[in-house]
Amino acid sequence: MSLITFDPARVPTFQVAAKSLLGDTQMRKNVRHATDVIQGKRKIVVDEMPDWQQLRESGRQIKEHTLKHLDHYLQQFEENCTKAGGVVHWARDAAEARAIVIDLVKQSGSNEVIKIKSMTTEEIGLNKGLEAVGVHAYETDLAELIIQMGNDLPSHIVVPALHKNRQQIREIFKREMNLPNLGDKPADLAEAARTFLREKFLRVKTGVSGANFLIAETGGVCVTESEGNGRMCLTLPETLITIAGVEKVIPRYQDLEVFLQLLPRSATGERMNPYNSIWTGVHPTDGPRSFHIVLMDNARTKILADDEARQTLACIRCGACQNICPVYRQTGGHAYGSVYAGPIGAILTPQLQEMHSGQSLPYASSLCGACYEVCPVKINIPEVLIHLRHKVVEQDTQGFGALNPEALAMKAMAMLFTSERRFRAAQRMGRMAERPLVNKAGWVTWLPGLLGGWTQVRDLHEMPRQTFREWFEQRGATDGK
Ligand code: SF4
Repeated sequence: MSLITFDPARVPTFQVAAKSLLGDTQMRKNVRHATDVIQGKRKIVVDEMPDWQQLRESGRQIKEHTLKHLDHYLQQFEENCTKAGGVVHWARDAAEARAIVIDLVKQSGSNEVIKIKSMTTEEIGLNKGLEAVGVHAYETDLAELIIQMGNDLPSHIVVPALHKNRQQIREIFKREMNLPNLGDKPADLAEAARTFLREKFLRVKTGVSGANFLIAETGGVCVTESEGNGRMCLTLPETLITIAGVEKVIPRYQDLEVFLQLLPRSATGERMNPYNSIWTGVHPTDGPRSFHIVLMDNARTKILADDEARQTLACIRCGACQNICPVYRQTGGHAYGSVYAGPIGAILTPQLQEMHSGQSLPYASSLCGACYEVCPVKINIPEVLIHLRHKVVEQDTQGFGALNPEALAMKAMAMLFTSERRFRAAQRMGRMAERPLVNKAGWVTWLPGLLGGWTQVRDLHEMPRQTFREWFEQRGATDGK
């Protein structure tokens, strides 16, 4: 079973990771094919909606309003969920959330759990934490099962095994499920997974889930999925433990009308998800006997406090920005060194890590704006990327980065440009210094040392013999005679 996680302290920068992954032609082919298919399906179901732009705007407004009053809606959710028989737990960070879930699993008396796909549990490395105390977690989403059995890492927030093709999946199942004669048709693979998982659904008494939406008005939780494994995990176990980031709350039941149209169309190109499960607390004759929900901050309130980056929290994890991103489509998700890859990962990951790591991610973008165009809740990702780049530069100029040549050059330029005397002196010195480098045509085509980077791709025109200011002053002196 896969227990590997992204370790922020050890992952290479995006640029380094991307360079080696670009050599994996099979992975790149798989990613391009899968994202092309999803984008094609999305286009059909989005184009048929005459009010798509109004829906996007409604989604944006609901999220903006909720984030402005997040404390109120979270309290309302806690009150209503508790009234309905749920138990609400609060976690400040990933370690606390993991400890709470592990404790609850132990209390349930089970040494196994069945899990629905949840990026939040990936974010906190839950499987590894559970395994450390002797609890086996079974992923039940097909893609997550492939990742788990292949000892791999997710590369997409909706389709975590998007980088694998059918033959590769067949090899993993053959090996891990001991099925030497397994066929490679989709039905063969689905049947193998179904047989493997069915026994777990019926035997394991504790379920773990994430959440797509938390409804403040009712205390209800909503999970959307396509395979029915989620419905099994939410209804068959005796204990259900849900973990959700605090930003998942929405004010009213009615708001689902907007999000349950935006999400499936953007995520998988479906008009609606085949399974939309909504449950509120516990019921004496139906579903789990005990229900716990862990509401996790893990740096989200810090993002909330940042006016320009706050919109990051509006994300409904549809993955549309990943599918369209020209950078993600070339490198795949692993280059981002985080469970959140692509444009959303480039803005979310460094913020979740409070800018202590992931500083290279805001640069993993050409700023083409395609992510903003497709985002169902209109998150202006390029704007946040630029804001984060600014933060990285500020961080750099305050720390050891202050000694790097670029930062020193910028400081020197600032000194020159803020003093007329120094600026004029620099112009005179520049004219003298460039003399041996100017060719007969009046161009500098080569510069020595670090400056050589500039002339590698461009030539520099020689400085004029006389600046406009000098000419003007001379002219004034002449006119005055
Ligand atoms: S940022 Fe927008 S497009 Fe990207 S995953 Fe989130 S909601 Fe979807």
